[in-house]
Amino acid sequence: MSKIDDLQELLKKLPGIGPRQARRFVYFFLSADENYMSRLSSLINDLRSDKKICSFCRRVHFDSISGELCPTCSDTSRDQSKVLVIEKNSDFENFERSGVWDGRYFLILKNVGLTEDDPSARLQLDRLKTSIESGQTSEVVTALSVNPDGEYTTEYIHKSLTPLVKSHNLSISALARGLSTGSEIEYADSETLKNALENRK
Ligand SMILES: [Zn+2]
Repeated sequence: MSKIDDLQELLKKLPGIGPRQARRFVYFFLSADENYMSRLSSLINDLRSDKKICSFCRRVHFDSISGELCPTCSDTSRDQSKVLVIEKNSDFENFERSGVWDGRYFLILKNVGLTEDDPSARLQLDRLKTSIESGQTSEVVTALSVNPDGEYTTEYIHKSLTPLVKSHNLSISALARGLSTGSEIEYADSETLKNALENRK
């Protein structure tokens, strides 16, 4: 395989990129000016080396001041007792852009597949449970996409946390169906997110 083929193979792994687009990118890179290319490659490298993962919500952040927690989790002006369970970093960005949530977040990084064996370790629900048991978290809202995996994951999380409803007075709910079937949180508009949150049940 040539270097062109190698790079095309790598670019094909980007979300939403097929072989033809990947090939176009390769030729674009070949003709792009040097400044652009060196900035692109150093930013990609920095992104990897400078990234931090929040010890509570698992969000990627680049803040060196807030320590182990991301700026959102350490922001005391937010309601620290409420946690919104979401799938990924782009869902976080959508909720923050919409300004409809003032609590903390908890990322599971990938919904549970219907055939996945024992997902509890991967979801790291223990950290969420510890936070509930210590009294820091009193409300959990799941905000996962409306598709089979998202619904299965919602059910799984609710089932795992149900014992804490009685023992620790936990309130647990899911986004209401303002979101139509097949909805991705990442692409939902502010109004839809707001309604779905207000009508959580
Ligand atoms: Zn965080």
